[in-house]
Amino acid sequence: MPELPEVQTTVRGLNSKVLKRAFVNVWSDWEKTIKKPKDFKVFKKEIKGKKILKIWRRAKNIIFDLSEGYSLLIHQKMTGHLMVGKWKQIKNKWQPIKKGPLEEKINTFLHVIFFLENGKMIALSDVRKFAKIELWKTKDLLSSKEFNKLGPEPLEKSFTFRKFQKALKNKKGKIKQVLMNPEVIAGIGNIYSNEALWWAKIHPQKSISELSLKELKLLYNAIKKVLLTGVKLGGESFSDYRNVEGKKGHFDDERKIYKREKEKCSRCGTQIKRLKFGGRSAFFCPNCQKL
Ligand SMILES: [Zn+2]
Repeated sequence: MPELPEVQTTVRGLNSKVLKRAFVNVWSDWEKTIKKPKDFKVFKKEIKGKKILKIWRRAKNIIFDLSEGYSLLIHQKMTGHLMVGKWKQIKNKWQPIKKGPLEEKINTFLHVIFFLENGKMIALSDVRKFAKIELWKTKDLLSSKEFNKLGPEPLEKSFTFRKFQKALKNKKGKIKQVLMNPEVIAGIGNIYSNEALWWAKIHPQKSISELSLKELKLLYNAIKKVLLTGVKLGGESFSDYRNVEGKKGHFDDERKIYKREKEKCSRCGTQIKRLKFGGRSAFFCPNCQKL
C-alpha cells in the first residue's frame, strides 16, 4: 500500500501537471470506487466544470481543492495509483497514446478516468479495486470526524519530539502496530515502520510501555529519516506503486530490512528474520533489535 512517501510523490507529480485545470468528464467501469455522492451520475454532474486549485495530502489521502468550495478526496488504498497522461479507448480497453511506462501491465487496470479541459487525463489504475473517491464540500471535509481523528503529520515542523511522546502516551500494544495506526501518527505503513524500527534498534514486538526515553528519541529520529528519504527517492520500488508517470520510485537503494528476510543485516551481518503478527509481516535483525 502506498505510504506517506509514495502519496507525497504522487501529490508532487499532480501539482506539476494538472493545476488550474477544470474537469470536463469522468469515466468508470467500477463505479463503487466513488463513495460520495454514491450515485455516479450525480458525482459526474457535480464535478464537471470545477477547477483544480491545489493538491495536498493528509495521511494517505490525496486532496484536490476545487473551485466553488469543493474538495475531491482520493485514497489509493492497497493497490491504487493515479497517473497523468492521455489514453484512447480501443475495443473497450484504454491504451496510452504514447509508448513508455504507462504501458506497463500494473498501469493498465484503469477503473476511473478524469478528463481535463486541456485533453489530459488523470487515471486510477487499481488491480484490487479498493481505492475510494469522495467529493466533499471543503468545509465539511475539514471538520469531518474521519479527518479530525487522524494523528499528526510526522514530516511537519510542528511534529516535535514532545508531540511524538504525546501521540504515544497512554497507547497500549506493540510498537510496530501502534506506529501503523493512522490515528496515532499519519502515513506510516508496513514498509516505513519496519525500516524505522531497524534504524532505532527496537524489536517490532516491544511493547510501548517498555520503551526507554533513549529508544523513543532514536525512534522519533528514525521515523523522520526514513520518511524523508522515501520522499526524496520518490517512494518505493518493489511492489505495485507507480508515480504519476507510471514509474517506480528509488527507495530500494536505501531499503535496509523490509522484505529482506534471510539476507544479512547491513549493520551486523546477522540473518534477518520475518515475523507475522497483527496480519502483517515484521522484518527485523534478531541481533540489533532485541526484545
Ligand atoms: Zn543487525
